[in-house]
Amino acid sequence: MHVVAAVVADRLTSRPFDAAIIAVGSELLTPEKVDTNSLFVTEVLNDLGIAVAFKAIVGDHRAELTSHVAHALQRHRVLILTGGLGPTDDDLTREVVAGHLGLALREDPAIVEAMERRFASRGWKMPAVNRRQAMVPDGAVALANPHGTAPGLWIEHDGAVIALLPGPPREMKPMMEGDVRPRLAGLVGAQRLFRRLVRVSGKGESLVEEIVQPIYSRWLTAMPPIETTILAGLGQVELHLVLQSSDAPGAAVQLGRAVAELAEALGRDVVSTDGSGLEAVAGQLLRARGWRVALAESCTGGLATSRLTDVPGSSDYVERSVVAYSNQAKVELLGVPAALIEAHGAVSEPVAAAMAQGIRDRSGVDVGIGITGIAGPGGGSADKPVGTVCIAVAGAVTTVRTFRFPGGREMVKAMSANWAIDLLRRSLLED
Ligand code: AMP
Ligand code: MG
Repeated sequence: MHVVAAVVADRLTSRPFDAAIIAVGSELLTPEKVDTNSLFVTEVLNDLGIAVAFKAIVGDHRAELTSHVAHALQRHRVLILTGGLGPTDDDLTREVVAGHLGLALREDPAIVEAMERRFASRGWKMPAVNRRQAMVPDGAVALANPHGTAPGLWIEHDGAVIALLPGPPREMKPMMEGDVRPRLAGLVGAQRLFRRLVRVSGKGESLVEEIVQPIYSRWLTAMPPIETTILAGLGQVELHLVLQSSDAPGAAVQLGRAVAELAEALGRDVVSTDGSGLEAVAGQLLRARGWRVALAESCTGGLATSRLTDVPGSSDYVERSVVAYSNQAKVELLGVPAALIEAHGAVSEPVAAAMAQGIRDRSGVDVGIGITGIAGPGGGSADKPVGTVCIAVAGAVTTVRTFRFPGGREMVKAMSANWAIDLLRRSLLED
């Protein structure tokens, strides 16, 4: 018995602090109510350098709750439970946790008194059922609740810490901040979560995964391990690296090496390794050269320009933008020869190139961008289906590419704008 306990404690204490969260309440399993408590709890834990390894939403059900508490404590050193501390029969958290740990519950006269005062201050007499909320497991610390009746509980047991917090967010949040945060901070010491974000453009999620999986799978067995998450967006993929460590300089070196490995493997597809967005990176490249850009957008309706100008200070390098939707606009505003449109169609590489060169010449900038395509749902044909988009970047030389984007109108516009900015970025890197 003692040997088993020692082994468990040793296994727990030899690993970094990570956490489990259990949100308790049957109402959280209906379509009406969302568990928001775990998000707040996660934010505080992450801020303390504690990763959340597991969370669950469990109804007011004794067996279900017991098995989740058991699972959490077997594997994680921190367990935060919210909800189920109320006075009624369906509130089970206190009893289940005490029962699982084999701790007797005793009524705390000071809590009873505080609750009686709270009721009395409103001119009420405390109902007898509220006495349940004054029950404290042996060795637990009761956490005062100035915003409600249910006190929270802090339990340290066999190398693990367990916090029981009330369900209402306005009661849970101050307790998590004021009572749980400082106690956990004392236990984790210098441990922190260190993160890096690598943004990738121009490759789909599965292709990126194929390239990076052999690399990041090795990091999982490093000490400390780096966890990598892949997040796919419209035209972009994000690689999130997280490392839990108490050695800040060591973590920076380890993550720096990891990011360098990814950058090496992905080459030009890496947009940034410092969290900067695509439009900011393209802007930095323009600014570094003292160059300005002008855009001629058709199917994107100004979306590429909108994204470029999301960056503060973009007036340094965005000179102008024209939305040339009709053929007439392409001719009048950009000087695209009508015969070119007649010969190749408005959605064609020659027209995209002429749009880019036209806006470049007329505005006297260094780089012009032309975007023309079929966003759908109508307007497609057999050789130019919906999603066909031609994008040109005209600098000293002009490059043009034709894409066939999947999805509906919104997605085609977003992908087109993204690629236009990415082609600008790539052309600036070539130079
Ligand atoms: P309880 O402590 O279980 O009596 O919870 C009381 C109330 O707090 C519930 O009726 C919910 O409105 C709210 N609540 C409980 N858990 C959560 C949660 N995880 N996220 C958001 N609200 C919650
Ligand atoms: Mg409840």
